[in-house]
Amino acid sequence: MEKAIVIDGLTKVYKNGRGIWDISLEVDQGEIFGFLGPNGAGKTTAMKIMTGLMRADSGDVRIFGASISQNYVQAMKHVGCLIETAESYPYLTAYENLKLFSRYYPEVDDKRIEECLQITGMLKYKKEKAKRFSLGMKQRLGIAAAILSRPRVLILDEPLNGLDVEGMIEMRKLIKGLAGEDKTTFFISSHLIHDVELTCTKIGVIYGGRLTNVDDTRNILSNYSTLENFFISEVDRNGRV
Ligand code: ATP
Repeated sequence: MEKAIVIDGLTKVYKNGRGIWDISLEVDQGEIFGFLGPNGAGKTTAMKIMTGLMRADSGDVRIFGASISQNYVQAMKHVGCLIETAESYPYLTAYENLKLFSRYYPEVDDKRIEECLQITGMLKYKKEKAKRFSLGMKQRLGIAAAILSRPRVLILDEPLNGLDVEGMIEMRKLIKGLAGEDKTTFFISSHLIHDVELTCTKIGVIYGGRLTNVDDTRNILSNYSTLENFFISEVDRNGRV
């Protein structure tokens, strides 16, 4: 089966010498991959490259076989994303924001917009302007926009950021539902160990711009009993090298 995401030797060094080095990993269709690392580890940098917001110094990313450097349009056809904080037009309502966004996707009709508002718990705020939204509501609207076109791959930078406990539980359910029923592939970043443990089927630890290890959540938990133990051991091992 063709891999949903293949990252191959991705390197990007900023002028200040920080960045990411030689990141390689593969994610199968329907998997929920968790990119786990502390603040400044390089998660956003990698995800910006994966979605074409930034160019790598070297290496490449392929989405269902299409290279983002050689065949960007084809690669991005399957991708929905939410990078850093969700941007919305403050003077437009939740509905109007999605309507505007949907102009890129001829197949997205009003029914689908309503459905996405429903899925993300935003239907009751449909007619409210985005400027009055809390961080969590903006995040939900960002997710609604990301899933609008039913992408096969969703790249979400800290998707649970700003959500309350109920919102987190709902979002987790939504992610697992889409992965299970629609075989949507997720690439999610988080610095919250508990989150990643509960949500993801496969986990990669990124530390100081380098990927230390990638394994199935099931294997990690059977070898280390908790993801926290695994994370600490990875950081420790990486620190000593
Ligand atoms: P967080 O969880 O805090 O969002 P992150 O894992 O997403 O962190 P990145 O934003 O990818 O981390 O940053 C990786 C490193 O690169 C950090 O040390 C950061 O300071 C540095 N960095 C990020 N963007 C730039 C930039 N435009 N110019 C220079 N350095 C940068």
